[in-house]
This record gives sequence, C-alpha cells and structure tokens, in this order.
Amino acid sequence: MPFAPQDRLFVLTGAGISAESGLATFRGPSTASQAGLWNGHRVEDVATPEAWLADPALVWRFYSQRRRDALAAHPNPAHLALAALEGLMPNRFYLCTQNVDDLHERAGSLNLHHMHGQLFQSRCTRCNLPFPDHALYETALPTCPDCAAPIRPHIVWFGEIPLAMDEIYAELARATALLVVGTSGSVYPAAGLVHLANRRGIRTLYVGPEPPLNADAFDEILLGTATEILPTLTATAQEIA
Ligand SMILES: [Zn+2]
Repeated sequence: MPFAPQDRLFVLTGAGISAESGLATFRGPSTASQAGLWNGHRVEDVATPEAWLADPALVWRFYSQRRRDALAAHPNPAHLALAALEGLMPNRFYLCTQNVDDLHERAGSLNLHHMHGQLFQSRCTRCNLPFPDHALYETALPTCPDCAAPIRPHIVWFGEIPLAMDEIYAELARATALLVVGTSGSVYPAAGLVHLANRRGIRTLYVGPEPPLNADAFDEILLGTATEILPTLTATAQEIA
C-alpha cells in the first residue's frame, strides 16, 4: 500500500503528466531529439535570459504558441486523480509541479505550487509583479502600463532559480510520503528532492513509463503512464479512507 490514511503527501509532477494531455514540454535531457525542437530552435535558445535579451519577439512567439496549445488541451485522468486524492486528505496534501501549464488547477488541485513559473502569468521586468495573462504576443510586444519596461513570461528559464524553494523544502520536511510523477530525474533541484526525502526517512514512490535517472533513490517504482497508475492509487486511497 503506497499511502496510509494518516500520511502527509508531497507530490512532484513533471513533463510526463502534461505530455499525456498532448502538450509538448521541450524541457528534457540535453540529448533531446527533433521532438525537443520548436520551429528549428532548441528550447535552450528560446527559454533562457540570454534568448530574452537577444530576441524577445522570438521568445514571446514561443510562449504565445505554448499558451495557444495549453488553451486547447484538457486535464487528463492523472490530473483528475491527483485532485481527487487531495480531496481525501485536504490538509495533508501539497502538489509541486515543474509544469507551467494550468492543467492541475483546471482539474481542481488547490494546494499547488508551480516551481518553474506559470504559462498564463506574465511580469514586468522592472516591477517584477506577476499577473494573470492569457494574451498572445505574436506581433507587438507588451510593456508595463506603470513603468513602460518590457513584460516577460512568468517562467523560470534555464539558468534561473525555481520559485519559492524555501516553501518547497518546508513542505517536504513535514511530509511523510513523496510521490514523484512523470519527471525524468534530470532537472535539478527538483531531481534532488528524493535524496532530501531519503535523508529524512520519508517514503518515496515513483510513477512513470520508465525508471527515472535517479531510480535507485526510490523505495518503490510503479512503471506505467500517469493516466494508467494514478487513478488506481487514488481508488485504493478512497477505499481505505
Ligand atoms: Zn513595470
């Protein structure tokens, strides 16, 4: 049994769960094949501070297309299963996602943190305050109404620090179980959370179609897609709840 009824659960989700809703993620091993390319650009060439300085129009075309794709996508049974699981343990559930799309919130997840930023938020490069933004910027570039500085996607680019790591570590410290779903174990600091969990004696479980790079670090590995495995886990938790 992966979870006991009294567990406090920390869930980390990654690219795999969005991919099952048809969203390309572009983040991945640096050996990414053609599938990792966008219009012939490597993601490293459109998702970095350097890319933003060199060609903000290109960066906004990339994120506008991603907004378009996410608007057309729907939460899948894995997103829904995690929202249902939170419903069973509402005050003992924390979901940290590496994904920037909004499929978890559209599935009903509440206690949710986007460590790599949010596709449907933007922020002024000077004021730095994120705000909701569903607009597409494929012709004109947005500027701040208050200070006229450029507006950028509220995304953690390669080389930037993930958001609210203190909160993430605090939530992991009080968890009793760590569930990692659909992430390759290649992107740090997210990939290091399992090692922290091990040092604290927290049980660790991985769900994904193939073993992650850091497979040895997990107590248990359930091989399969998130949409296959997570509804089963949630159903089991419902039975014992
Ligand atoms: Zn501003």
